[in-house]
Amino acid sequence: MNISSPRKVPEKLLLGPGPTPVEQRVLQALAQPTLGHLDKNFVAIMDETRELLRYVFQTKNELTIAMPGTGSAGMETACVNMIERGDKVIICEHGVFGTRMHDVAERCGAEVVSVTAPMGKPIDPEDVRRAIKANPDAVLVGIVHAETSTGVLQPLDEIASYAHDAGMYMLVDAVTSLGGMEVPVDRLGLDMVYSGSQKCLACPPGLAPVTVSPRATERIKNRKTKVQSWYLDLTMIMRYWGQERFYHHTAPVNMIYALNEALRIIAEEGLENRFARHRRNAEALWAGLEAMGLKLLVDYEYRLPSLTSIVVPEGVDEAMVRRQLMEEYNIEIGAGLGELKGKIIRVGLMGSGSNKKNIELFLVALGNVLRKQGFKSDISSALEAVEEVLA
Ligand SMILES: *Cc1c(COP(=O)(O)O)cnc(C)c1O
Repeated sequence: MNISSPRKVPEKLLLGPGPTPVEQRVLQALAQPTLGHLDKNFVAIMDETRELLRYVFQTKNELTIAMPGTGSAGMETACVNMIERGDKVIICEHGVFGTRMHDVAERCGAEVVSVTAPMGKPIDPEDVRRAIKANPDAVLVGIVHAETSTGVLQPLDEIASYAHDAGMYMLVDAVTSLGGMEVPVDRLGLDMVYSGSQKCLACPPGLAPVTVSPRATERIKNRKTKVQSWYLDLTMIMRYWGQERFYHHTAPVNMIYALNEALRIIAEEGLENRFARHRRNAEALWAGLEAMGLKLLVDYEYRLPSLTSIVVPEGVDEAMVRRQLMEEYNIEIGAGLGELKGKIIRVGLMGSGSNKKNIELFLVALGNVLRKQGFKSDISSALEAVEEVLA
């Protein structure tokens, strides 16, 4: 066996769709001694983490926990627990993650009715209303709040009220919104909401926060059939995170330390301040990109503060742009996914990564690499536009 000598991982500036920059404090929390998963000191950290999660989810939901696994494990948890084989569900698809939700729901044995919107546009609430009317026997409406593949922020108010008026549950993907903007869990009575640790929560990947309304918790407790996944079965996991401390699986102890610390950072900043910071910096980035001569995919009112999709100008090779940003500036951004591959590039400003310095660095770097391909980027106008927004 040939084991290479210990290598130091290089520092990169993570400005893609996730993972996002992780503060030293969180990495230090991760490096604390591992405790037993039923140790009283660890249990106290778990309990506090639940309280902090309720704060960021803006909810009083008792069943609020962090599932092992990345954001997709949150999606599977939501679907396997809420769906029984043969159930009809309405899934909204306006990007890659909505389509993934459709796939997961189908694997749970659901009959899926899909409501779609073109990539770069939000779902029209009228279309959901019609689907609900045509399928009154559906049990839930599934939708992505922050569609990271396009940069669209999906308004939820009307859709949630149509679903609830019809007695259906709202299943919401908040992977790229939680910790960066309001996720109105209690305000809209969202029933099953999941996220991921490595986006706006600014923690390493590996945990999927989940919150479940009392009504959805009742549904899960009263299922006619067992949850088809043993590992993601909330009926058992709620007994481990609850008073009983019933052993189910070994909690990823050190990851919980890290999430706890990342959530403390959020609580110290305060949700309102954090949302305002994400919003203000996104506005500055958009103004800078437009002043540079670039176009954004999403109309202003539906843009996500955490993720911006930039239309690749005519004649520019976007793979080369990303490669040069990485090789010359150590900056990571994201490519387009699915239909948008080659057509957009995606820039995330999430967590501590959402700051003025990163915006300026990114604009200068992007302007430079675009110039090499003949695009006449106006870098000084871009920087002036940023100053103007942040003044
Ligand atoms: C990133 C993401 C996911 C999947 O999360 P992973 O951590 O990659 O498993 C799901 N939904 C949305 C909206 C995402 O942005």
